[in-house]
Amino acid sequence: MKSYREEIWFDIPTRRAFVNITAAVQNCIDKSGITDGLVLVNAMHITASVFINDDESGLHHDYEVWLEKLAPHEPVSQYRHNVGEDNADAHMKRQIMGREVVVAITNGRLDFGTWERIFYGEFDGRRKKRVLVKIIGE
Ligand code: ZN
Repeated sequence: MKSYREEIWFDIPTRRAFVNITAAVQNCIDKSGITDGLVLVNAMHITASVFINDDESGLHHDYEVWLEKLAPHEPVSQYRHNVGEDNADAHMKRQIMGREVVVAITNGRLDFGTWERIFYGEFDGRRKKRVLVKIIGE
């Protein structure tokens, strides 16, 4: 069995964003030389997510509205976590959107459903953050 590890770095200029990282993950698979196995992709921060869904801007807008209803950023004083920081909502948004995804690799490609794409969800940006890509197989 082979294994491969890589980190993908981000420096998102806004507080929140969704970034399609499907091509970056496929690039890691290409470099690994693994054609049959599994890839794990996880955010290495507790205020960011990795998830799979449709690459459709209307849906991403709907996520933003939905997440703001569930855990509004303002007023920051509503959260006990926000003593010396203001990112309690980002922790909650990350919890809902998830930490990681695992995808099968078949014939060297991400073995997706038709509309599945991998996204990085940033909820407290404006600083350097990273995602771990770990691939195992042969
Ligand atoms: Zn925090």
